Amino acid sequence: MTFIRPLIFLAATIIVASACTRQQSPAPEKGVSFALNQYRKQHIDSIQYQIELDIPAGKSGQISGKEIVTFHLNAVDSALVLDFNVDASALQEVRVGGKKVDYQFVNEHIVIDSKHLSKGKNEVGIDFVAGDQSLNRSDDYLYTLFVPDRASTCFPLFDQPNLKASYQLTLKTPEGWEAVSNGKLNAKTVENGKSVYQFGKTKPVSSYLFAFAAGKFFKETRTMDGREMTMYYRETDTTKVNRNRDDVFQLHAKSLAWLEEYTNIDYPFGKFDFVLLPSFQYGGMEHPGAIFYNEPALFLDENASVNRRMARASVIAHESAHMWFGDLVTMDWFNDVWLKEVFANFMAAKIVHPSFPEINHELRFLLAHYPNAYEVDRTAGTNPILQQLGNLKNAGTLYGAIIYMKAPIVMRQLERKIGEELMRESLREYLKTYSFGNARWDDLIGIIDKRSPEDITTWSNVWVKTPGMPEYGIEAGKLVQLKDSVSGRVWEQPLVLKTMQNGQLVFPNNDGTGYGYFKMDTASKAWFFAQYGNAKVSDPVFKGAMLVNSWEGLLRGDGPGPEKLVNSILNALPKEQNPLLVDYLLGNLQTDWWAFLNADQRAAYQARVEGEIWQLLNSTRDKGIQTSYFRAFKALALTDDGWQKMHGLWTGKLEVKGLVLSEEDKISLAYELALKGKGDGKAILNTQLNATKNPDRKARMQFVIPALSASEAERDAFFETLKKEENREKEAWVLDALTYLHHPLREQSALKYLRPSLDLLQEIQLTGDIFFPTRWLHNTFAGHSSPEAARIAQTFLKEHPDYPYFLKNKILQATDLLDRSVKLSATYGQKEHSPALSQQ
Ligand SMILES: [Zn+2]
Repeated sequence: MTFIRPLIFLAATIIVASACTRQQSPAPEKGVSFALNQYRKQHIDSIQYQIELDIPAGKSGQISGKEIVTFHLNAVDSALVLDFNVDASALQEVRVGGKKVDYQFVNEHIVIDSKHLSKGKNEVGIDFVAGDQSLNRSDDYLYTLFVPDRASTCFPLFDQPNLKASYQLTLKTPEGWEAVSNGKLNAKTVENGKSVYQFGKTKPVSSYLFAFAAGKFFKETRTMDGREMTMYYRETDTTKVNRNRDDVFQLHAKSLAWLEEYTNIDYPFGKFDFVLLPSFQYGGMEHPGAIFYNEPALFLDENASVNRRMARASVIAHESAHMWFGDLVTMDWFNDVWLKEVFANFMAAKIVHPSFPEINHELRFLLAHYPNAYEVDRTAGTNPILQQLGNLKNAGTLYGAIIYMKAPIVMRQLERKIGEELMRESLREYLKTYSFGNARWDDLIGIIDKRSPEDITTWSNVWVKTPGMPEYGIEAGKLVQLKDSVSGRVWEQPLVLKTMQNGQLVFPNNDGTGYGYFKMDTASKAWFFAQYGNAKVSDPVFKGAMLVNSWEGLLRGDGPGPEKLVNSILNALPKEQNPLLVDYLLGNLQTDWWAFLNADQRAAYQARVEGEIWQLLNSTRDKGIQTSYFRAFKALALTDDGWQKMHGLWTGKLEVKGLVLSEEDKISLAYELALKGKGDGKAILNTQLNATKNPDRKARMQFVIPALSASEAERDAFFETLKKEENREKEAWVLDALTYLHHPLREQSALKYLRPSLDLLQEIQLTGDIFFPTRWLHNTFAGHSSPEAARIAQTFLKEHPDYPYFLKNKILQATDLLDRSVKLSATYGQKEHSPALSQQ
């Protein structure tokens, strides 16, 4: 692959540490450019880091660090560039071979003149103050999250995935703190009233996979299949922990055993522990030997649905699969980050599915992937699976639904094309060939192409290297590809359609495996909804596939219109017993409700929607379905009667048989009550705050409450605080707050936050976690459906014609639904105007 983006060397602010300024090459730009990455890969190897960090109690004291980096250089024709994305003042001393040397600190890099270096082995010692940015510090614990290029925000290193290194970490922590890292704990001693944890050398790992956590944790060690595993966690509810811990250990053991068998390679990293963190940014992160998880995803509530249980098994299998796919064999450059994600998902599905025979996995795959992939792929801001990346600092922007949702669909198509056997054999060869090294997608395609009679390279060029989704229509009873954004592009995939009544009714993509928009005629759609739940419309996958077609139709102006769809969904729900389909129907109902219906239309349906969902909530016996109805009721209820019901559930005076409410549920009920009450929210929120026992949840509530205030001035003041980086540290909290700040019921008053939120985006990308820019935009715009809101985003893009390509795409993605809503309200508004639609 060639990179067309020119390398621009930014005007550098050079801080000269001495009189010696002999400069050998242009100053490196901020971040790790592709050129720097290539240069270092060619010249540096055998890297080892010895790092020592002294962590004080509390969340703000300075963490002092010492480090020795040893490596081989195969040439000394240029200065050495280490990455350290912290203020110059954090750098105290640099030594080469034990001798203090001059250096330059430029654009977040330490640059050491080549005169200090030698061909062969070198040793650089650095004293520094560790940067806080990716340490996620709280008063009594901290944890790292260094993906994709954030290790250099903490300590100096070569922060790129293809320079794998061995790490040897020593942590000094307050007494009473636990500590865990990738390496095995060799010794724990006490020195000057502090605990000293010495971890052993790791196997070669990429910098984004290096990790540690320290603080007040509970821990439990088990031996599973002869392998010792320690779980670190923060949850204080012992009943909850007891209910879940056996499952959590067993799911790990099972995943590892399955993967060893499939890959024919033993677990590669020796020691295996995992750490459960409240409000962790992702479901999990695959640090070898020390996987981090979001605690609530693993410690489930008593009433957890089968979906939640499978999601838990899946995230554990996903992170375990990464030990091979991503950790043992790693992408060469972050543009191939999708590959490790798709394999982790692909393996997780194979591992987890057989344990949940009660779930229709075809339906689940359909509903979990296709709608989410379309949500991005139908927008003007979509991207190919394999993207270009000129500088690692932009790696975060590569992540999104195309990687997580479309890529698994494409990978499943590949396996169907070449067969499971050839797939497994190719993957075994790939893992074996590149063990403890790096590889690209094209390396795998090469291995498959060599074994398969099919032309996999051409197929890969369309599905993996170009963006967008195909559109199909029916002509003369056959499915045909409609206009494509790229002329001449052929989306090779097997497609099916089902006909009824002598071809009068046509149902394209009835097995739900085809990827694209399948346009249906009005009569077939009407028949489908009218017959929903009857003998001819009972197959779950068929129902799912047609519902997806209908939703995509609504968004493209092909109907059914928003009111008709609300009506159809309300008619379908009582006939639906499949939890996945109930969930999908309720999801569409809510999006339709808030994004496409105006206030008058909602008012006309309000009592009926609440009444029917309340009735279904009370009559269902399936726990998963009940939870879905509870969530929908909570989100949609707005009448006095609905508010009273929520209030009754919250106080416990009203009970729904079978529904157990967790502390989280109570908190979210209190939020909705405050949002929808007439000014009496403060007391409810206060009562809930006092009743909340878990300290992490309590702190999160304290943060979110101002965003719910009935006073616009207070909400404005809260929004102002988000402009400061330190107030955005707990990103999960910020996202919660944004949801309420921009709730459709407060859309008007929130319009003024849109422009400043866009203005902050570049800073957010620099300071936040990799998913944060997307989520920030999504939670900001999801509550809006007004032309004013759409105009604010359009104006912003117009005023910034040179806005970074990736971020511009994220804006286009986040505002797609808004734009469609504005555009379609005219189209549908004329066809539909009253709730007098049939209730069948
Ligand atoms: Zn992953």
